[in-house]
Amino acid sequence: MKIQHCRLCKGTLSEPKLKFPPTPLANEYLKDPTPQELFPLEVCVCTVCGHYQLNESVDPARLFRYYQYVAGHSAVNKEHFVRYAGHVVERFALPEGSAVLDIASNDGILLQAFKERGMRVLGIDPAENLAALANANGIETIPDFFTEAKALEMRAHYGTFDLVTANNVFAHVPDLEDFAKGVQVMLAPRGVFSFEVSYFLDVCDKTLFDTIYHEHSSYHTLTPLVPFFKRLGMELFDVEHIENHGGSVRVFVTRAGARPVELQVAELLAKEQDMEGKVARLGVKVEELGQALRAKLNELKSAGKRIAIFGVPAKATTLIYALGIDERTIEFAVDDTTLKQGTYTPGKHIPILPSNAIYERKPDVLLVLAWNFADSIMQKHAAFTGTWIVPIPELKEYGI
Ligand SMILES: [Zn+2]
Repeated sequence: MKIQHCRLCKGTLSEPKLKFPPTPLANEYLKDPTPQELFPLEVCVCTVCGHYQLNESVDPARLFRYYQYVAGHSAVNKEHFVRYAGHVVERFALPEGSAVLDIASNDGILLQAFKERGMRVLGIDPAENLAALANANGIETIPDFFTEAKALEMRAHYGTFDLVTANNVFAHVPDLEDFAKGVQVMLAPRGVFSFEVSYFLDVCDKTLFDTIYHEHSSYHTLTPLVPFFKRLGMELFDVEHIENHGGSVRVFVTRAGARPVELQVAELLAKEQDMEGKVARLGVKVEELGQALRAKLNELKSAGKRIAIFGVPAKATTLIYALGIDERTIEFAVDDTTLKQGTYTPGKHIPILPSNAIYERKPDVLLVLAWNFADSIMQKHAAFTGTWIVPIPELKEYGI
């Protein structure tokens, strides 16, 4: 569904500032290759508050009710959340027995870390498969979307919380005002709301354009968030710029006046000058990368080389479409996620095999679409004797 109004302030959206070809939904891997619905993939900015977002809204039930991404399956992720819990407990001197609510709690991985520190924990997540998994692991989790109405229901039953966390979900929520009002309902008077979200400044500066897909409807910067929370009687009082997912912010919010506003907020706001120029440069960069990669793949194909893809994370869909990778130049793809093996990539229907297929089928070239893990993938598969191509942040070849 086309949307014309801002997810933060209801202001009018601009014409697209970044326009990629329409794509299928990034996580719709298929058992049988049948034609798939394509959705426009265009980033606009709110003409009132400056919030970047898609001008398309996909039914959240279709995106999130069954979610394949299990946070706890990644060791890197697990370590991140254990450190996160420790950091926040220390930063706000949370005593044992404090109440922690995690929204979009996935398999309960963060709450597990809080629980081990003696906190009382509760999770909520719309993915029924993940909520069931968390409950089975002893982390009480409500299988639902978080809204203000839901929050009122929850507060009546569980009371308020000293800490409310919501990580990698603020980009996903279709109605951010309703979500933030719900957070306010759940917060104790001096309670802290802490969320981590991919930072759009890094997306532009580090060419992370493949994180743009329909699950992520918002691309956050602080500039529109500060007045957004203010309008709701809350205050964005601190922020940390972190490395997670190639560049994220960890944002701290409380009720207005409950805590002093830290200097880091103004420091990061100052870096967000000329976002429009940064976005335009990203658009040009994607064009250039696409041209270079297509030329390279065509050249290899003409020379009779056999090309396969290594790693098809959700963001590979944007990458394949935005860079214009022709599926006829690709023989197959491999991925270590068991659930994806034996399926076909969204839209282009490239067959996905287990990673040992690279030794059985022996392609000449492997194109790494999980490019942020390129180093560890190439190390792990040092036995592969062909050429590796890593398309981002610059087109590079290894092992020629
Ligand atoms: Zn706005």
